[in-house]
Amino acid sequence: MAPTRSEAAEACDAFVVGAGMAGLAAAIGFARAGLRVVSAGAPERLGQGRTVALLGPSVDFLESLGVWPAVEARAAPMRGLRIVDDTGSLFAPPPIEFRAREIGRDVFGWNIENAALADALGAAAATQPGLVRVEADVAAFEFAPARATLTLADGRAFAAALVVGADGRASPSRRAAGISVGARRYPQRALTVLIAHARPHGDVSTEFHTRQGPFTLVPLPAAPGAPNRSSLVWAMSEAEANRRAALDDESLAREIERQARSLLGAMRIEGERGIFPLARQSVARLVATRLALVGDAAHAFPPIGAQGLNLGLRDVKALIAATATSGDPGADAALEAYARSRAADVLFRTAAVAGLNRALLADCAPIDLARGLGLAALGAIGPLRRLTMREGVAPLLAD
Ligand SMILES: Cc1cc2nc3c(=O)[nH]c(=O)nc-3n(C[C@H](O)[C@H](O)[C@H](O)COP(=O)(O)OP(=O)(O)OC[C@H]3O[C@@H](n4cnc5c(N)ncnc54)[C@H](O)[C@@H]3O)c2cc1C
Repeated sequence: MAPTRSEAAEACDAFVVGAGMAGLAAAIGFARAGLRVVSAGAPERLGQGRTVALLGPSVDFLESLGVWPAVEARAAPMRGLRIVDDTGSLFAPPPIEFRAREIGRDVFGWNIENAALADALGAAAATQPGLVRVEADVAAFEFAPARATLTLADGRAFAAALVVGADGRASPSRRAAGISVGARRYPQRALTVLIAHARPHGDVSTEFHTRQGPFTLVPLPAAPGAPNRSSLVWAMSEAEANRRAALDDESLAREIERQARSLLGAMRIEGERGIFPLARQSVARLVATRLALVGDAAHAFPPIGAQGLNLGLRDVKALIAATATSGDPGADAALEAYARSRAADVLFRTAAVAGLNRALLADCAPIDLARGLGLAALGAIGPLRRLTMREGVAPLLAD
């Protein structure tokens, strides 16, 4: 008699759906913890002017996975953060600047091109003992109390004790497990581009708060022929995004320089641009039978304050801690422990990012006053400054 599909399935301890940055980090981490791991999905190597600002604990985690040394030279340190209220509000405080040394750190974090980090994670995954990479997508999921069965688009089947849903915002694993998701689209898009500029950034990231959202310049390391480089994430209305997408490089560079108040001097666009819709998503549960969600599958919000992947890597670290040493990594108790450990951090970050974005868009005097007073207090009150910086870099709620 021919075996049924689940009898013929290859067995593993952890099956990671999605080979984005959160998924590859999870696959490497579980394999380094001694589990038999399968990682499925095509490599996600996003260019489009995208970089990721990684905070200190994320870099420590990548270091523990053996990934960071391969990319460190391609990342730029962020030693300072400048915030400029450019909303035109009557209550705009003067620009404020935070320095990592105020909280006894050398850097707040590091900024790196997505493609460079994705390549390093891909290379580490390819040589990690205990980890099998398959590039096919998962076509079907069956979650049962004893184990999960996954069928790939190429027909192969796997049985896993734990499925890690690292399959991004649309997350087919989340849908298959029946986890509901609340989503909100904002009337904004983010333009992303890499820039070469005349003046040095001094390892300081600058965030202009405009009425259409933040305009954030983040340091990048020098490249041949370009000693001064930064990445830009510019949130704006959909109409402005469409207009700017049609500009030639020189005209766009001039608009960027004007918005940056010529802080970094004349600018030149490097390579391709990206345009991304801004949205927020929250899930009803982080876990279901034999499934744990991590990264953008678990939460998504506008790119404000370098939160998305940093939160995703904290998910991965917490999931490995909660499940890898339990005899059965997909047992309900281990999954519940993971969900409990992440609830406050995810809720707080999602609310904080959404709140700041709403406050910028509001154009309403009482909200402007509250936002102006808040920023002025952050600039002037030492203990509050330091608490904010510490919470931004190494959140207490994540512990
Ligand atoms: C403009 C912008 C700037 C940002 N800047 C920062 C920043 O500075 N710092 C920061 O921390 N975060 C930042 N983020 C957020 C960060 O980029 C994301 O949080 C992160 O890339 C999400 O990674 P992920 O692996 O969870 O998801 P994704 O990158 O979406 O990967 C999911 C993967 O799953 C795959 N997949 C889907 N379905 C299947 C299937 N059935 N089978 C197999 N694979 C499947 C997809 O193809 C994809 O490759 C930014 C985001 C944007 C838009």
